[in-house]
Amino acid sequence: MTTAPSPTLHTDYDLSHTNTMALACTAQQVVTLSQESELDAFMASNDADKLPLFVLSGGSNVLLPSHLAATVLRPQMRGIHVIARGADYVDIEVMAGENWHELVVYTVNQGWYGLENLALIPGLVGASPVQNIGAYGVQLEDTVQYVRAYHLETRTWHTFSKAECEFSYRDSRFKQAPNTWLISRVGFRLHTDPTRVCANYGDVQQTAHTYAKQSGRDSVHAIDVMHAVIDIRQQKLPDPKVLANCGSFFQNPIITKAQFTELQADYPSIVGYPMPNDTVKVAAGWLIEHAGLKGSGVAPILTHTKQALVLTNHAPYQATQHDVAIAQQYIADTIYDKFAITLAREPVWVCADASIGHTEHAL
Ligand SMILES: Cc1cc2nc3c(=O)[nH]c(=O)nc-3n(C[C@H](O)[C@H](O)[C@H](O)COP(=O)(O)OP(=O)(O)OC[C@H]3O[C@@H](n4cnc5c(N)ncnc54)[C@H](O)[C@@H]3O)c2cc1C
Repeated sequence: MTTAPSPTLHTDYDLSHTNTMALACTAQQVVTLSQESELDAFMASNDADKLPLFVLSGGSNVLLPSHLAATVLRPQMRGIHVIARGADYVDIEVMAGENWHELVVYTVNQGWYGLENLALIPGLVGASPVQNIGAYGVQLEDTVQYVRAYHLETRTWHTFSKAECEFSYRDSRFKQAPNTWLISRVGFRLHTDPTRVCANYGDVQQTAHTYAKQSGRDSVHAIDVMHAVIDIRQQKLPDPKVLANCGSFFQNPIITKAQFTELQADYPSIVGYPMPNDTVKVAAGWLIEHAGLKGSGVAPILTHTKQALVLTNHAPYQATQHDVAIAQQYIADTIYDKFAITLAREPVWVCADASIGHTEHAL
């Protein structure tokens, strides 16, 4: 007789080392899943005293409460499988618990390309479709073929085609319906032409050329792009292992072209990118820097000295979500007073009952 696999279960579990912002947090229950079948087994036995469910992977895009009265599901399933090969492509299926950056390095070293611009983004593969991760001109949706996910309410498995994932800029159907799905596998189609690269971004282009030259190549290869991206990110962004942070803290606000033109008269160096419908996306980092907030905030939560868009935690494992709320409010109020622009938060604000907070509000 075979017994159903059972996941690892902990109660009153300390999650302060499981979120890159290093906020103090205990969870009522944590369930670590190393196989998909463990999820079926756990959910079948999870009827009495049902707590709300919350899925947590690498914790690099969440702001956790001091106490999370929920069952936290941690997908740790591992595996990278080749599904098909063609003349110029390879299809792979990757389990949710694989580390994203390690996947990028592994694929490039195998001669499978398409993910190189997304090197060094923290987190696990299962979270990557949630906000359609992107960097340096490439988004996850450029290579995704399908996503397999478990519907937590009906306890059923589904496979979504790329179109069904409803990807858009830093968004997807999974982000639109928080705490509804647990993503367990992601299918990618990667190509095998090392010279087919996306290296249009100034910094990336220049650095990738330097790497290509050093390797005796005339043209830039995907591996050069990967090394360039790693270099640039290491220079610009604080490493969460050294200085706790959760990446870009504020979204780039979108304002009307008329408001942008008015601001430009007062601040000629303001950075904005034209968007559809007579709107402009303004660089939130520029606003914070030019409000004199680079390197400041409300201790222990301060903007980073090199990249004002990133909030850093100078009291790791002690500071709480409340400290972040106070700093967020202070920065957002200062920006509003100076530029009449409302800043919204980017990372996921997790409330004590596992519901998700609104992006504009501190609490
Ligand atoms: C220094 C730094 C730099 C960053 N740079 C970038 C960047 O360049 N581009 C970019 O797009 N992002 C960036 N991020 C944000 C972050 O790395 C990504 O959003 C990443 O995909 C989050 O992965 P995670 O495993 O840490 O997810 P978590 O933080 O654990 O979870 C994030 C959200 O996804 C949900 N979730 C997690 N796993 C699953 C799953 N298996 N199934 C369903 N839902 C799930 C969670 O419930 C939560 O709502 C950066 C973060 C940091 C700290």
